[in-house]
Amino acid sequence: MGILTNISVDKVRFPFSDKISLPQGVLNDLINSSDHDLFDASRPLVITLTLSQDSDDNCIGVQTVGVRDFSLDDPQSVTLPWLVASRFGIHSLGNKRDAFYKLKWQVAHDVKACEKLTLKYVGSKKWGAQDFESVEKSDNYLEKAVSEDVFSMKAFLEARMNNAITCVTQNQRLLVSKAPNGERASEIFEFDVIELDPSPVSIVVNTDLELDLLLEESISGSSTQQTSASNSTKPLALRIGELTTVSEDKQQIYSLKCRKNLLLEISQNDLGESLQIVAGHDSNTLSEDCYDFSTLMSSAKMLRSSVNSSTIVPLPEEGMIFLKPVWFDSNDTATFKFRIKEANEIESQDEIEGKVKCRHCSTLIAAGTYPLHEVHCARSTRICDECGKMYCQVKTIPQEHWHCCKDHQLMAGDMNVSRLRHLEFFHVPIGCDMCSASFESKDDLAKHKHQVCPRRLHSCRFCHLRIERGESSVEARYYGLSGHELNCGIKTTECYRCQKTVKLMELERHMEFHDLKRIERGKSTVIDICKNVNCCRILTNLTNRWGLCSLCYGPFFDTQDDFDGKRFLRKLERKYVIQLTRGCGSTFCKNSECKSSGLVNMGSLKEIITHVQVDLLKEPMEVFSLCVDESTTKRKVFADTFLELQPNEYAPEWVCRGACYLKTLNMDSLMDWLHENAISNAEL
Ligand SMILES: [Zn+2]
Ligand SMILES: [Zn+2]
Ligand SMILES: [Zn+2]
Ligand SMILES: [Zn+2]
Ligand SMILES: [Zn+2]
Ligand SMILES: [Zn+2]
Ligand SMILES: [Zn+2]
Ligand SMILES: [Zn+2]
Repeated sequence: MGILTNISVDKVRFPFSDKISLPQGVLNDLINSSDHDLFDASRPLVITLTLSQDSDDNCIGVQTVGVRDFSLDDPQSVTLPWLVASRFGIHSLGNKRDAFYKLKWQVAHDVKACEKLTLKYVGSKKWGAQDFESVEKSDNYLEKAVSEDVFSMKAFLEARMNNAITCVTQNQRLLVSKAPNGERASEIFEFDVIELDPSPVSIVVNTDLELDLLLEESISGSSTQQTSASNSTKPLALRIGELTTVSEDKQQIYSLKCRKNLLLEISQNDLGESLQIVAGHDSNTLSEDCYDFSTLMSSAKMLRSSVNSSTIVPLPEEGMIFLKPVWFDSNDTATFKFRIKEANEIESQDEIEGKVKCRHCSTLIAAGTYPLHEVHCARSTRICDECGKMYCQVKTIPQEHWHCCKDHQLMAGDMNVSRLRHLEFFHVPIGCDMCSASFESKDDLAKHKHQVCPRRLHSCRFCHLRIERGESSVEARYYGLSGHELNCGIKTTECYRCQKTVKLMELERHMEFHDLKRIERGKSTVIDICKNVNCCRILTNLTNRWGLCSLCYGPFFDTQDDFDGKRFLRKLERKYVIQLTRGCGSTFCKNSECKSSGLVNMGSLKEIITHVQVDLLKEPMEVFSLCVDESTTKRKVFADTFLELQPNEYAPEWVCRGACYLKTLNMDSLMDWLHENAISNAEL
């Protein structure tokens, strides 16, 4: 708890975050309060700020915020992101000390993790250099982005909130930047917090919260549309070989990780082949007229008692695809099934436990009755000479049986509806209703819509917005990007690790390169920590045979030759005796072998001398218990705390090295440093 009077507002670096910067002294106070729960890595540090006039204590406003760092030198200063300042109404403060306000800070221990959050989309704003230029409630593509795809908006929100916002407060307006970490962006999304569980102020970082998004009437049409993740149909992963029963009233999308030699088979369909399956790479837009490929290009190879089966389509050899069953002129009493199967699936043995597979209808028949069945079956099985389709238990091939008379010799069917559908999808020219392109057939149009139509929405892999694909170009096709993605991807960003300017489209590979370098360097790095148990400094070059760092060895340094180490041991003995009798005099000392730490419980001088000679100077000398300076003490405590919280993540050597390197001791910074420099135990 404390008072800060030098308030400045960050409008440049992270204006849309709620993480404030505090003085270094605050961290020291927090560490000394020995409340180690404060630095629990799974829960962010949360602070309650109370703003009042400098002259009196009348409260102007209270907010619960997160902490970015403890980097400020002036013990009275605090930096508020624009978002926090604007909620207090003091966002127009200059960057100089403002004498009119004071902020009281206090650790908020009782803020709970958010379980449910309902936001209402209000609109978007344009951010100028210092403030909002104008409010544009119905900015064109945002309106589209939000109304047509609540789900990617939610994914975007979840990603952005996690790295920019720590706490959300009931009835508050939330501004979410398009850029990560609450950095500036040209568009800022605006939401009202409608509902918040379990408490009116909740933490939204590292929580499994259920997020609902409400859209305004002006955007979604006549009624307020509410969509939550729970009633949306998440793609269901398919298992190879398993039959899946589908029905028209239960809309479901399926996902499949492709590999070589897989086939999609409609195993049970009605006479008109009403069930068709469309497949593509984007589950959001998949529909009967928007896909990469579909079962419409194939037809059933067997009909038995009005049940069609064996419609087979080869699948891509790699990548993730989504499949969606669609129905045409359906017969709702029929059962529909499909499955994914191996192309080289071994046909079941011709004879299994006394059964024989009929060479006409392929069913397994008891060996004893097989001769009779075969005679009967041969009489009731017909095979079409033209397309090879097999008809079982019929006297004749159905009259309506048709073949495509144009380019598809093997396309066939048994009802007029399936013939008309084939004509519609493959032989009638059609134009795109969204761009001016025209196509030979609906099948070509469906591929165009799913893959390239510049007016269709897609999820940009760089800005994560659901946005029009944009006109494609040779270059965009070369990189496998949409027109918009190419424009988005050639924008540059500064790599936060090497400060190089990197194109967004190259960032992923650039980061992989950093990671490879890190592991390579990490594996060839040998780290030795000072042998003094109270020290965590790293030995840069071995200057003494005892394995002490330059700081700890300093007092023993001797220009005289000490080939057998006797002079060092004599000095060490004297130092230990002084530590145990008088102490080093530092109030911060944590050395258990020093009187100043308050940890020594020893009586007579004789007792002390015996302890020094028997315990502390025991051969071989591999451990020392010497007092260290304040900075080293803090770093050692910090490293030990981290190792206690994350015991198996990193070797102590790496943690100490990080603790020595950091300017500001903060668990998140140490974690970041380790991610970028160290190799974790799992990577060894
Ligand atoms: Zn048979
Ligand atoms: Zn035929
Ligand atoms: Zn045809
Ligand atoms: Zn188009
Ligand atoms: Zn983009
Ligand atoms: Zn870099
Ligand atoms: Zn040392
Ligand atoms: Zn001491």
